[in-house]
Amino acid sequence: MAFRILVLLLPATLLLIGALISLAPVSTLPVADQNTFTLVPYLLVIVAVFLGYSFKRSRVLLVALNLGAAYFLIQNGLQTSLARPDNYVLYSAVSLLLPINIALISIYEERGIFTPIGLARIMLVSIGYIVLFVLKELGELAYWISELPVSLIEMAINSTYLSNAAAVVFVVCLIPVLVSLAIRKTHTDAGLLASLISALITLLWFDRPLISPLFISAALIALSISVLQNSYNMAFVDELTGILGRRALRDKFSTLGRTYTVAMMDIDHFKKFNDTYGHDIGDQVLRMVAAKINNVKGGGKAFRYGGEEFAVVFAGKSESEALPYLEEVREIIANYPMTIRSEERPCDSDTGKKLRSSQKGSENVQVTISVGVSEKDASHANPDIVLKAADKALYTAKKAGRNCTIASHQPPPAPKKTKPRRSKFDYAQQ
Ligand code: GH3
Ligand code: MG
Ligand code: MG
Repeated sequence: MAFRILVLLLPATLLLIGALISLAPVSTLPVADQNTFTLVPYLLVIVAVFLGYSFKRSRVLLVALNLGAAYFLIQNGLQTSLARPDNYVLYSAVSLLLPINIALISIYEERGIFTPIGLARIMLVSIGYIVLFVLKELGELAYWISELPVSLIEMAINSTYLSNAAAVVFVVCLIPVLVSLAIRKTHTDAGLLASLISALITLLWFDRPLISPLFISAALIALSISVLQNSYNMAFVDELTGILGRRALRDKFSTLGRTYTVAMMDIDHFKKFNDTYGHDIGDQVLRMVAAKINNVKGGGKAFRYGGEEFAVVFAGKSESEALPYLEEVREIIANYPMTIRSEERPCDSDTGKKLRSSQKGSENVQVTISVGVSEKDASHANPDIVLKAADKALYTAKKAGRNCTIASHQPPPAPKKTKPRRSKFDYAQQ
């Protein structure tokens, strides 16, 4: 889990490091270039909003609006000294609004953009900034300085600009953002964390030249990347099992060279398993089997081919080199005790009812897979043909009694039975 989160955070981390490194060089740019650079975040807001809209990622759209509105106020109201009362009030308000909005957005579920709730959220994100802008234009902000609590006037850290209150708000807002990242593990949540950290850095070192365009840009790029990564996942990763899907297999096929081996795997008697235990438990079993296949060693890459069928590709390996790794996976699955609790059984199917009345507590079931393997050679000249040959070998493995591996170029080995396999009859009997 920790590794997955680190991977999610990688682009944002690199962007934030890039922004930090660029801080000194950009401040030496000619003034005209600096002025041009301050326009970049507006372009990036448009990109992120467009991507959020196109890929139905309302949280990305909302955070982009939040960052864009805060940036607009910073550029149009906070480019003179914070010693001015109106500036300080505006800065204080933005230092609270920015993190609170990000925290709220982090806990939102996807509910569409042009839906009543989606539009209400857009309004909620914007309203604070609109009010601040109007008050600023009316010259009202300066009067509020005497109303600010001490916690908004005392700085949290010497020689920085973040007040005690804003520091506390940032820490509190970090909690839902981190929890959402830990639970949902999405690229969007990584983008939200990047946005919160960028906002914090911007407000901490507010007097550094070009700090806001740099860090708001970094956050907006991280958000846009998150949308693209998310759509890659949707296209290439199988939703149920979390392993790569068929489209990714096609991609893999286009990269294969002179030597490779393809294995096709199929869960034995899975239809009966579903009929006996219900589709939900069938799904759990599919996930378990997929996870084991995905851990195949020897450089094999696993894909869900469809239904209860999986493909494993070994680039650069022959059939005989790949066979031990495939056998290992088959045995691991056959030896893995799947525990099924009786309350998990279906309550709507007759079989489920029978099962519940006849047995109490939990029980172990075994699931087995059959494997067919083939390698590239003169008569199997491309990956599609090799896959067909592997599928044929799989069919032979099924006929040979299941829970075994058949290689199309090897003499059929005596099927290694790890455990007595469960037949359709066995499942139906339980
Ligand atoms: P064999 O040993 O010959 O492969 O028998 P089988 O029953 O596994 O094969 P068959 O092709 O007849 O049935 C495949 C079953 O896989 C049918 C369907 O119920 C089940 N299945 C396919 N996809 C899913 C899925 O996503 N979830 C669940 N729970 N079941 C699935
Ligand atoms: Mg099948
Ligand atoms: Mg099957």
